[in-house]
Amino acid sequence: LDADKGAPTIFDKIINKEIPSNIVYEDEKVLAFRDINPQAPVHVLVIPKSRDGLTELGKADPRHEEILGQLLYAAKIVAEKEGILDGFRVVINNGASACQSVYHLHLHVLGGRQMKWPPG
Ligand code: 5GP
Repeated sequence: LDADKGAPTIFDKIINKEIPSNIVYEDEKVLAFRDINPQAPVHVLVIPKSRDGLTELGKADPRHEEILGQLLYAAKIVAEKEGILDGFRVVINNGASACQSVYHLHLHVLGGRQMKWPPG
């Protein structure tokens, strides 16, 4: 686990293309790529290219409002590109008790199968 939540994460290497990823969508501020351990036929992570203190959603402050909106809209673009607009889920795991493992804010976009509710 990433004990130092301010430390660089694997996502920095993905952003910098130091390690490969399967990119689904990219713009100036946002990167979306396939999760390496998919939990559904479609499982894409949407991240800000600049973490800017957003190790987790709970660290957001007013200066992050714009990027938070951009991330959520990018999730919709990803769902559209992946053909799952009729049914998809967007998840943010915040903190260890919610199973967050990478401390660089990310939205999970999941779909392509019947999703269960409530989640575990
Ligand atoms: P979390 O548990 O923090 O909400 O989600 C982190 C996600 O990042 C996990 O679903 C995990 O599979 C994914 N992940 C971790 N390392 C890598 C990697 O190197 N490449 C990709 N594409 N996904 C990763």
